[in-house]
Amino acid sequence: MPSLPSPATTLAQAVRSGTLAPDAAAQEALRRMRDASPLHAVLSEVDPSEQLQALKRRLNTDELLPLAGVPVIIKDNLNLRGTRTTCASHMLAEYRSPYTATAVQRLMDAGAVVVGKANMDEFAMGSSTENSAFGPTLNPWGTGRVPGGSSGGSAVAIAARLAPLTVGSDTGGSVRQPAALCGVYGLKPTYGRISRSGLVAYASSLDTVAPFALSAADLALVMGVMAGHDPHDATSLSDSAEFGSALNLRGLRVGLVTEGRRGLTPGVDAALSRMQAALTGAGAEIEEVSLPHLDHAVATYYVVAMAEASSNLSRFDGMHYARRAEGAGGADETMRRTREEFFGAEVQKRIMLGTFILSSGYSDRYYTKALQVRRLIAQEFVDAFGRFDVLLMPTSPFPAFRLGERSGDPLAMYAADVNTVAVNLAGVPALNVPAGFETVDGEQLPVGLQFVARAGDDARLVALAAALEDLGAVQVEVPAGYEEFSL
Ligand code: GLN
Repeated sequence: MPSLPSPATTLAQAVRSGTLAPDAAAQEALRRMRDASPLHAVLSEVDPSEQLQALKRRLNTDELLPLAGVPVIIKDNLNLRGTRTTCASHMLAEYRSPYTATAVQRLMDAGAVVVGKANMDEFAMGSSTENSAFGPTLNPWGTGRVPGGSSGGSAVAIAARLAPLTVGSDTGGSVRQPAALCGVYGLKPTYGRISRSGLVAYASSLDTVAPFALSAADLALVMGVMAGHDPHDATSLSDSAEFGSALNLRGLRVGLVTEGRRGLTPGVDAALSRMQAALTGAGAEIEEVSLPHLDHAVATYYVVAMAEASSNLSRFDGMHYARRAEGAGGADETMRRTREEFFGAEVQKRIMLGTFILSSGYSDRYYTKALQVRRLIAQEFVDAFGRFDVLLMPTSPFPAFRLGERSGDPLAMYAADVNTVAVNLAGVPALNVPAGFETVDGEQLPVGLQFVARAGDDARLVALAAALEDLGAVQVEVPAGYEEFSL
């Protein structure tokens, strides 16, 4: 049986059986969020009273409510009707959601209670949450360090146990990488597995809504609730996935990705060796596999992502959406001044690069070329999954870095994504598994490993996590000064 505490599963059971008051956990989460405000994981609280009233009514019916009373914190690029959805940008500082994202609605339909909106890199552009217009989030494992990004707020919210479940978005690693740097699970589902309706678009062909969790059981629970077809998202998958099945490690074919083994810190390298030994000991067959086009994944990803971002963000023109700079004369000046004033530096840079990449005369050279390489990368994954059930590589080559350490050097920052972006280009699912710690300058920092599966095989990753828990190969710990989320 899974050995890790599963706070969401436990809470929901207690609320359904009547041993825990339906509002107890939400109140506890709000208290914890206030106590932990120096971490700056949460941008705004959500008043849960309406949700709690509805929940109490529904608990008297025979509805299933798999997440009854479970408090959830969502990234601030997910719409929740009537609340602020800022994307951590001055552009949307005053924006109120007119509707609720499908993934969030499904959580609430299952009985979950949304209590907060989490900090993030502005418009999900970044790998450290330092690009938030409202200030960075701090890593509870070392408050001078970044939590990773762009879903750093959601990662810290669960790592510091402010809530037992949190949700982010993963376009190029934004859930897996902060999950690795904060010591929790983060699952990037197959593209289309969870509806994107109501997720503010960054790069639409790469964006996924993705959960953080503290155990395989909780991961299965939240995936079972959020996954599924949605008529509001034409790219959402029509097939259904069953979560919670078992997996036998004996005979599991694991491909150890050669390109993922380079440039690792000693602690990440050691975690990878431990995982190999654990898998081999349990009867899995590990073989090395090279995916040579991964060398081009970062360049390809940033061309595709910036091109799509420049198009998606063109709606923020000072006229249709969001804010408008005061006192500008005429449409052009209004647009220019609005974007200068309300977009941060990273967002402005990406819009300019994306526009350049798509401009006539250059789009063949950059955008079309990137699409061709994207195809080759996707094919390499397909070929690898002809021989392997899952692929293994570190999520990040290094643990949490210091605030400011990489923010002045975009290429050093983009290097944080070297192992994650290819997965989004290929559209396949991948899971960060917390796999131990590395001590750096006296601080104990989490290390994460990434398992990748073929498209549609999300459930296999969750089952693999459960098997690894049985084996004792997963390490989920509470950072000093925080307590497990239990009541
Ligand atoms: N760090 C990557 C970027 O800045 C990935 C971001 C994400 O997944 N949202 O684009």
